[in-house]
This record gives sequence, structure tokens and C-alpha cells, in this order.
Amino acid sequence: MTKRRRNPHRPGLDDVRYKASRARLKIIGNHVCHWCRYPIDMQLRYPHPLSWSCDHKVPRSQLHPDDPRMWHIDNALEAHLRCNQARGAKPLPVQPTHLNTDIDW
Ligand SMILES: [Zn+2]
Repeated sequence: MTKRRRNPHRPGLDDVRYKASRARLKIIGNHVCHWCRYPIDMQLRYPHPLSWSCDHKVPRSQLHPDDPRMWHIDNALEAHLRCNQARGAKPLPVQPTHLNTDIDW
């Protein structure tokens, strides 16, 4: 009855530390998609394509399930579900933390 079910297709997503980071990001985030820069409507729910999702700077597919980046909030970014899914397992082209401050026009 109390046995935890693990989904082998979603490694790391069942981890309580990931769930905690995800919940924290949902609270402290600015709710802007880091891919398209449009706001995320927090009223929309999964699986709506424009619903909020937690993206990973370093894709989960490239991480071991025990790697701290699987759940650490420093590896988490807000994204629309469709933007997140369109990105797939591709690495980020640039470090997203520099996107808003280091643009040299
Ligand atoms: Zn987006």
C-alpha cells in the first residue's frame, strides 16, 4: 500500500527533492518562459501546451538519476510545456542566467 511507484520513463521526476525544487520554483519564479520570453499563465494545467513546466539547464537525459542537478533548483528553469518539449534533450545554447544582463547590442 505504501510502496512508491516509480516511472522508469521519468527518471528523477519522482524524487521528493525534485518535487520540492519544482514547487519552490513555481513560487519564486517570475513565470516567464525562458525560451520564448512570453508569460506563463499559471491557471493553465498540464497537459495544456502553454502550461507551466520545469525545464532543466542540463537535460535530465544527460544526468545520472543520483546527480544533484536532477533536482537542484539551480538547474531548473520555467518554461511553457510546449517550449520545453520542443527543446527535448538538446543542451541550452547559452547560459540562461546571462540572457537578461549580458546582451551587448
Ligand atoms: Zn515558451
